[in-house]
Amino acid sequence: MSVYQASAEWAAQRDAADPLRSYRDQFLIPPHGDGQCLYFCGNSLGLQPRGVRQAIETELERWSTLAVEGHFKGEQPWMTYHEAVRDHLAELVGAEPSEVVAMNTLSVNLHLMMVSFYRPTAQRPAILIEEGAFPTDRYAVASQIRFHGFDPERDLIELKADEPNGTLSMSAIEQALTEHGSRVALVLLPGVQYRTGQVFDLPAITRLAHAQGCTVGFDLAHSVGNVKLALHDAQADFAVWCNYKYLNGGPGAVGGAFVHSRHAHSELPRFAGWWGHDKTTRFKMGPQFDATPGAEGWQLSNPPILALAPLRASLELFHRAGMDALRAKSEDLTGYLEWLVDDQLSHVLESLTPREPERRGVQLSLRVHGGRERGRALFDHLVEQGIIGDWREPDVIRISPTPLYNRYSDCFGFAQAVRAWAEQHPA
Ligand SMILES: *Cc1c(COP(=O)(O)O)cnc(C)c1O
Repeated sequence: MSVYQASAEWAAQRDAADPLRSYRDQFLIPPHGDGQCLYFCGNSLGLQPRGVRQAIETELERWSTLAVEGHFKGEQPWMTYHEAVRDHLAELVGAEPSEVVAMNTLSVNLHLMMVSFYRPTAQRPAILIEEGAFPTDRYAVASQIRFHGFDPERDLIELKADEPNGTLSMSAIEQALTEHGSRVALVLLPGVQYRTGQVFDLPAITRLAHAQGCTVGFDLAHSVGNVKLALHDAQADFAVWCNYKYLNGGPGAVGGAFVHSRHAHSELPRFAGWWGHDKTTRFKMGPQFDATPGAEGWQLSNPPILALAPLRASLELFHRAGMDALRAKSEDLTGYLEWLVDDQLSHVLESLTPREPERRGVQLSLRVHGGRERGRALFDHLVEQGIIGDWREPDVIRISPTPLYNRYSDCFGFAQAVRAWAEQHPA
């Protein structure tokens, strides 16, 4: 007997007993008809925290009344504005504050990190990624390989999925590193794979890759604010992420980067800008670049305050709720969605995401039986009903109940809508 039940009453009881239930009130849920959407798309764009408008208005007000003095004056001067964001991000990725910086956007940060941490040689020119990686990651690594005069046809190695639903086993990663490791300059893998929802074992991957002499970077776009991370202990060389998915930082939010403290005083080449210069002497405006220690030394420009304000408001909520509590709810909530799919919807949907809680996060990737046309029809129907997930060609709907603002009732509502549709549209 499962602990779960497929009823609105049971789901409502679970919601009432949820210690994190009040966090939902901190978010603006998009309206639908007389009610609200069932929003399952935090994997793509997180919802707006209520505190965001005020956070932006505060900075507009400070700009209008203080102008340039805003850099130095007030409760939170702009000069150190990024530090609150940095500290909360460090908490979320399991790093020391000096290892983390909020800057640019993900793809830009990935390139900046590769400038320093992808140092190919004729003997060791390759980058190892997973097959079916997020397009920007593949474009970025292929263009870096070309930029250094090597050939992606030969020097971009893509790990093939070896498990039935398109996921990758640790032994496949180990085998690839044993086979190609001596030619690999950089291993770049996601923390959570965007298409399958698979969680990767970052410490184990780092250990294997370092043993082969490779540098290791992680793309945490789908991991941060989703699963627990311990980048410092994992010994990753670098990581990058965006802050608009689970972290609710707003469309195109400022991204994040991690550089392990053993590289804090790195002599590796980097692309420099004045904001990465030693903070204590930055305003002497000298001609020689002298990097500030730690991740902040990779900054180029002074940070966009109006774009950091929403992130600051959102991270405050993560800090208050805590990743331990969020993850505990998340495992149970996504477990409920998975159980509903198995118990109620197996004639319509099948989950491709690993079933072991430690190998998945918030998201389930649900393949629609009957192919693309049918899948698309179901997806469009759900959107019309105000049930928002996202569509991945050719036949997958991604549904991500996030622990901050989703409810057990949302998962039940999704299951009910799919069942009703399937009754009217028999395969
Ligand atoms: C969302 C996502 C991106 C987005 O890149 P931006 O530079 O923020 O547009 C990149 N990589 C992965 C793996 C993602 O999931």
